[in-house]
Amino acid sequence: MTDHSAPFPDELLTSWFARRNHRQPGRAAPVPVAVLDRKGEWRHPDVRPTQNWLRDAAQRFDVAETDLSERAIAWRRPALPLGFLAWDYPPFRTSAPDHWPPKLHVSWCSQCLADDYASGRPAYIRRHWVIAATGFCHEHHWPLEDQCIECHGLAWKFVASARGPMRMVCEACWTHLDRSLPPALAADQHSQDCWGRVIEFEEQLLGALQGRRPEQRRFPETSAAQLLNEVRDVCRLLLHNHPDYPRPDSPLGNFSCPAMTFGRRRPEFWSSGAPFPLATARMSLRRCLLAAAAAIINSRLETGSMLFGPLAPPAAETFVNYADDTMLQRYLTSDGRWSASLVRRIGTVRSQRLCRIAIAARERTTSRRGSPFATSPAI
Ligand SMILES: [Zn+2]
Ligand SMILES: [Zn+2]
Repeated sequence: MTDHSAPFPDELLTSWFARRNHRQPGRAAPVPVAVLDRKGEWRHPDVRPTQNWLRDAAQRFDVAETDLSERAIAWRRPALPLGFLAWDYPPFRTSAPDHWPPKLHVSWCSQCLADDYASGRPAYIRRHWVIAATGFCHEHHWPLEDQCIECHGLAWKFVASARGPMRMVCEACWTHLDRSLPPALAADQHSQDCWGRVIEFEEQLLGALQGRRPEQRRFPETSAAQLLNEVRDVCRLLLHNHPDYPRPDSPLGNFSCPAMTFGRRRPEFWSSGAPFPLATARMSLRRCLLAAAAAIINSRLETGSMLFGPLAPPAAETFVNYADDTMLQRYLTSDGRWSASLVRRIGTVRSQRLCRIAIAARERTTSRRGSPFATSPAI
């Protein structure tokens, strides 16, 4: 029987560390956390581990140091912006207290975990599960979870079973996390098609995070860096309201796709000032953001009608109608930040809207001047 003492090729380093630690309860090592290096930069053990941590972990569990270093996220994706990782406590400014070291937000695919169990493999955390650019498992075309399906608890742990391999369970109620949410199991073909459409978009995003140019038919004239800028900026606009005209809800509330929130309460689309909303959004909200971004940025109109219904207006139009116009204009005029094709497409919709507003204002003025109530003498 394989002892699985080395990390799996797609395993997070802290997942491997926790598994190994679990097997040696007598001499459990402290849980690895992010530390500040001499330059004042955060070094998270999964993202960019310090040389000291790698050396100690390799020695403690008797594996080659290179076997560990090559599994760090930054080693695989050196240019990955931290805003595209999922964080409980992010390394950039938010409302979280400064003294908490950055902590990644872990999601999981119940189908991957069920496969682990069925094949006698210990459960482990895939690197893919902490990337904020995904809301689905791309292997199983399955929605990722980040809370227990029974008690909605967020904390999980590994447990060793007497008869089978190690499993992931909810820390509060011990539900096995390889169990899937019943509404996901009962999802109809349309919901699965919607998942597939968002997964296609996520694949382009994951490619862009590795520097790959997006597919040009759906994202014309777009570089990898531009696609990332577009997703980040669109998500920011979707959760932002103009400070002078605050509303409790956010523009994202106008993009409703039940297939993204199945079996869960619809997230509350409150306005947010988070610098990277994708990085700190919980799973349902993250999927809603990605679905809206997919429909707005993708040049194919049918993506929007599939996700938001055939009667919904084009996603770009809804976006322009509700997004903060000052911020939108800043992004549109920022040279090279977005692709020329998205600037043209959104710019045209915006000009049409401004034109409609100007005509309506003119008509209001004219009708006031020509109104019999305004000019007729009192009887
Ligand atoms: Zn999976
Ligand atoms: Zn639970």
